[in-house]
Amino acid sequence: MLYQRSSALFKEAEQVIPGGVNSPVRAFKAVGGTPLFAKSAKGAYVYDEDDNRYIDYINSWGPMILGHAFDPVVNAVIEKAKNGTSFGMPTEIETKIAELAVSMVPNVDKIRFVNSGTEACMSAVRLARGYTGKEKIIKFAGCYHGHSDSFLIQAGSGAVTFGSPNSPGVTQGTAKDTLLARYNDIENVKALVQANKGEIACIIIEPVAGNMGCIPTKPNFLKDLRALCSTHNILLIFDEVMTGFRLAKGGVQELYSVDADILCFGKVIGGGLPVGAFAARNEIMNHLAPLGAVYQAGTLSGNPLAMAAGLAMLNAIDSDDDLFERLAEKTAYLHKGCAEVLTKHGIIHTINREGSMISIHFAKDEVVDFESAAKGNNDTFKAFFHGMLNEGIYIAPSAFETWFISDALSYDDLDETIRAVSKVAQSL
Ligand SMILES: *Cc1c(COP(=O)(O)O)cnc(C)c1O
Repeated sequence: MLYQRSSALFKEAEQVIPGGVNSPVRAFKAVGGTPLFAKSAKGAYVYDEDDNRYIDYINSWGPMILGHAFDPVVNAVIEKAKNGTSFGMPTEIETKIAELAVSMVPNVDKIRFVNSGTEACMSAVRLARGYTGKEKIIKFAGCYHGHSDSFLIQAGSGAVTFGSPNSPGVTQGTAKDTLLARYNDIENVKALVQANKGEIACIIIEPVAGNMGCIPTKPNFLKDLRALCSTHNILLIFDEVMTGFRLAKGGVQELYSVDADILCFGKVIGGGLPVGAFAARNEIMNHLAPLGAVYQAGTLSGNPLAMAAGLAMLNAIDSDDDLFERLAEKTAYLHKGCAEVLTKHGIIHTINREGSMISIHFAKDEVVDFESAAKGNNDTFKAFFHGMLNEGIYIAPSAFETWFISDALSYDDLDETIRAVSKVAQSL
């Protein structure tokens, strides 16, 4: 494939945008090479500026669960834009999407819309602190909750000490309030809670992880977390920015039959426009300004174009009773096909899957947490990524990302993908 125009555009972008991108993972740093510049996309395919076509497994990092340029979303945005793009006043459509979201998600009464998943998680933690009057939080190594300071934390020395900043600019003061736990390890979480008795406001988790590749939680892990939180008056936050409206209409709460206290959303809920949201029961949500004292705001929050896109997306999902089954079947088909050809060509791998999230870890052992994910062979991944790209298959340019299956993918597309995996595997 030729990437001349993408290369030229990247060089131009690098002059005026740091690293040429507005979000680091787009830059291909983890895999080497030059990022592709997107020109257009429709259904299962994305086209770059050199007019190469790719079967897309990134899908804008999740939102395009029904495929690119999904007509009801596109039309809703066009129609809405004709009446003005922002007012800074309440609009009816905000209530409409709130009503629908609250009806789909278990265990919530109210929802507040923001502009990104980062904002949703940041606000959820503030709300949890305001509600409980406590300051520390627990997050899990390898889980991503956006780029606000409290989450850019890595494990400190020793399992029961506080974390340390993993980006310059994050203060030690902030880092000391974030404790790091091991994913899927309830004993580790219990030890942290024990060592910080009465000080922990919330535990935030990706209830199925997607930011260290796909890693589902073990049976009972979420239920054990729920019980631990209830015992110690800690709020449980499910960051469903990736899993919400993707793994089930009601997200992981519905899928695993576990109640969280605060839910965070993003990605699918905005249908491809910049939207995030957080939701909870009245007793918690009523602490938010202007009802309560916990401050949170946004000039463009609930923007009519964004709400129109999100509403069209949620309506399509809510009215399709077979969607999640179809997606899971397609993903299982891909899983089986990839596993067969990788095994045939002797490539060491572990495939994790939940619903429409799947990832191939080039690791020998089970991948259950960040440590085991990090054991994957990154050189194999790099070669695999570029091989797939050359075959017209676009997967995330990092071993620590999941593949997102969209409903626009046909079984022909999946077969083409499996053939590509087979071909690429021969040269790994
Ligand atoms: C993408 C993501 C975020 C951050 O959302 P942005 O819209 O990129 O700010 C937070 N949490 C999870 C689980 C995510 O996957």
